[in-house]
Amino acid sequence: MTRPLTTLLLIAMLCLTMEAQTNGRDFIRQARVPEAAYTPTQTTFSLVTLAEAEGAVVRLYSNDGTLQRTQPMTRQTSAPVDKEALSLWNASIDGDLNGTFYTFEVTQNGRALGETPGTRALAVGVNGKQAAVLDLNDTDPKGWRFDRRPRIPAKDLVIYEMHHRDFSIHPSGRFRHRGKYLALTEKRAIKHLKRLGVNAVHILPSFDYASVDETRLDQPQYNWGYDPVNYWVPEGSYSTNPYDPATRIREFKRMVHALHKAGIKVILDVVYNHTFDVGGSAFQHTMPEYFYRHNPDGTYSNGSGCGNETASERPWMRQYIIDCCRHWVDEYHIDGFRFDLMGIHDIKTMNAVRRALPPDIFIYGEGWAAGGCALPNEQLGMKANVSQMPGIAAFSDEIRDGLRGPWDGDDKAAFLGGVKGNEESIKFGLVGGIQHPQVNLSKVNYTDIAWAKQPTQLISYVSCHDDMCLTDRLRASIPGLTEEQLICLDLLAQTAVMTSQGVPFMLSGEEMLRNKKGVHNSYNSPDSINHLDWNNINRYPQVMRYYSRLIAMRKHHPAFRLGSADAVRRHMSFLNLPELMVGFCLKDHAGGDRWNNIHVILNANKTDQTVSIPQGRYTIVARDGEINERGLDKFEGNSVTVPAQSALIFHQ
Ligand code: CA
Repeated sequence: MTRPLTTLLLIAMLCLTMEAQTNGRDFIRQARVPEAAYTPTQTTFSLVTLAEAEGAVVRLYSNDGTLQRTQPMTRQTSAPVDKEALSLWNASIDGDLNGTFYTFEVTQNGRALGETPGTRALAVGVNGKQAAVLDLNDTDPKGWRFDRRPRIPAKDLVIYEMHHRDFSIHPSGRFRHRGKYLALTEKRAIKHLKRLGVNAVHILPSFDYASVDETRLDQPQYNWGYDPVNYWVPEGSYSTNPYDPATRIREFKRMVHALHKAGIKVILDVVYNHTFDVGGSAFQHTMPEYFYRHNPDGTYSNGSGCGNETASERPWMRQYIIDCCRHWVDEYHIDGFRFDLMGIHDIKTMNAVRRALPPDIFIYGEGWAAGGCALPNEQLGMKANVSQMPGIAAFSDEIRDGLRGPWDGDDKAAFLGGVKGNEESIKFGLVGGIQHPQVNLSKVNYTDIAWAKQPTQLISYVSCHDDMCLTDRLRASIPGLTEEQLICLDLLAQTAVMTSQGVPFMLSGEEMLRNKKGVHNSYNSPDSINHLDWNNINRYPQVMRYYSRLIAMRKHHPAFRLGSADAVRRHMSFLNLPELMVGFCLKDHAGGDRWNNIHVILNANKTDQTVSIPQGRYTIVARDGEINERGLDKFEGNSVTVPAQSALIFHQ
């Protein structure tokens, strides 16, 4: 073959490939329309299927469930999108369909795939079985037009993880809307959050999930909600009327607005990594097998531990996650996303989500999976790969388990229980997971790399909804613990969390010494296990006082939240201390702080410890379970005594 011919052939082949790619991109752009685009005179229904589908219909229903009409949809376009050919169908129906329920049904290989509300329903009826045409403008509550996301940089966040029902179901909370979105609009809720000082609530899954029957809300039912059905719609059981599609949307927005007015961000826990089931999912009813990862033998890969995992690397699934997050930001003014099992999603998707959202949207996730995935670890949003995902953070199990003990045994203790050798893991969390000359990575649990490029990429925490809550874990892992010691260790643990250069995160109710009666996995336990008992605020006033003053101190002092790896390396140095102690100094007016040389010393020993410090005159602001920024005491010298099982903070 002559050279010009080869070149021509190559150019022709390139053009063909480019055309295919362009078609795929064009297709995705076209297909990203709402599945039910409403105007007062006409609604246009759209649906994406595999190109091999032979037909699709949309069915309209009246409020009593009677079928009104079945409208065949027309194939608009088909295109190869990566390895799969997809089709876009639509059907326009005249008239004002506001409030009309609908479903789709796709036929493929001569088989009807079953009715589905679609994969991108923006409004649904009870239990999310049917979608609804809705003018979303009608769902905006009073003042929504003026709603603004609070401007809080990642380094300044203090995150409070909560479940709607845990928070407000117990009568002692005296909420009007117990277990509902609206509880968070009530003065007592806002007042508590403000007093505690958190500035972001992370709500456990609040998109429509399966495991609570919305037709039986008069009966006690409980679930965390990690079983997604309709990703684009608020869960119905937290609304006052799950039958009316507008109510859950309006009430969700009212919740967001009330929190925003109080300067509190709202972070949504999103669970794109798996669906409640495969057979019944909207994914399977529209594009069989497309959205899921498979093993070489054709079985479903199960990195979620829930029987399936989704395939974020496929272009239409990637676009799905991006568009869904954008919908929550645009329509609901959501401030951040916590990705459940982020380690199942591919890095490219996570970065695409990051790019698609405004920079002030905070994104973090679990940098692990619950089992092996059908995609190599190097490509996944694992903790070890966080450095390849700028602007995305991951939970640090290093500091969590360095404090409380490993995840594989509730009775195993660590630093808090007087187990030596966890000091470096805690230091790793304190610096925000970045490279720091004084953190010996070979002694850090679970990792041998500094996986964060910036400290705001590490979520510092000691407990969350998963596993035992802090008090239960302390009791389970430390035999003979007295209530006095329990409180001391609880406060010590949160001092580590809240003085970390990472982003601090706490489980709701820890501020009132919540317990779950020792239940390790309370995902479907009754209220009696999961509820917050608000009487505890009065029972343990010192706990709430310490938490709120600790958070206030963090917020008042930029030294605790330097925000950049270089600043942390420059200003944060560790003290040379005996075992079961970790201490650091934030030196030289770190971050422009008016306090100089702030020392934080954590002592997990059962006895007071006297340690050497640089000669100086110091003001003590935290000691033995009490905090006062104006000063608890002053001293001058080159040594200091740190009371047993507590934190000491002092500055010059
Ligand atoms: Ca539901």
